[in-house]
Amino acid sequence: MKKDFVVIGLARFGSSVCKELYRLGHQVLAIDTNEAKVNAVLDHSTKAVIADASREDVLKSLGVGNFDYAIVAIGDNMQSSILCTLLLKEMGIKNVWVKAQDSNHAKVLTKIGADRIIQPEYDMGIRVANQLESGKLQEYIELSEDYSISELYITKKLANKTLNDTDIRSKYGCTILAVKNGKKVNISPSPDDKLYEGDMIVVIGNNEDIKRFEEKGL
Ligand code: ADP
Repeated sequence: MKKDFVVIGLARFGSSVCKELYRLGHQVLAIDTNEAKVNAVLDHSTKAVIADASREDVLKSLGVGNFDYAIVAIGDNMQSSILCTLLLKEMGIKNVWVKAQDSNHAKVLTKIGADRIIQPEYDMGIRVANQLESGKLQEYIELSEDYSISELYITKKLANKTLNDTDIRSKYGCTILAVKNGKKVNISPSPDDKLYEGDMIVVIGNNEDIKRFEEKGL
């Protein structure tokens, strides 16, 4: 389903969000005060404008209030980032995702109603640490503080066993959402399906439970 996004701030983070959303087929309005940054996404956005997104009149004249999603990627100017986020929430945008420079910036953004706060270096650091720590963990998506989805490699221990044999639900309380083998993905695996070494399972569950399964069950 096509969605409308407004991306504000087009440096490294904002421009990559903008380009990827546009590549995925969505409508993207891109805004930055810097002309060179705007020019760089002209071919990767529906419309790109040079404008100051911390001004209410500017946001209104661009019709920003009609968008479903806004991404504020102004990291270098905390005041503008906060003001812009506040205006977007006042305009009634339901999903405002904001890049924060540090934890103080993140705290203020939470208070003024940002729907999601991203700290790219911090978030990526946690991801990389999780991937490094466990040789079995391939990908990791945090759903909340307690729950996540993890992609785990099937090791020799579980090779040629069925999903049922893994005891993942009864012993660990986790659920296997899908089994991947190269480009083949089984999105509704049955308990009798067999697992092979090198397969990847997509598991949803409580972080502690997934960790226990990784350490003891795999
Ligand atoms: P990076 O994503 O590379 O870490 P920054 O977060 O420092 O970079 O980039 C912020 C971007 O936001 C810059 O391109 C800057 O021109 C833009 N910007 C800063 N203030 C505003 C504003 N009021 N309105 C729109 N864009 C802005």
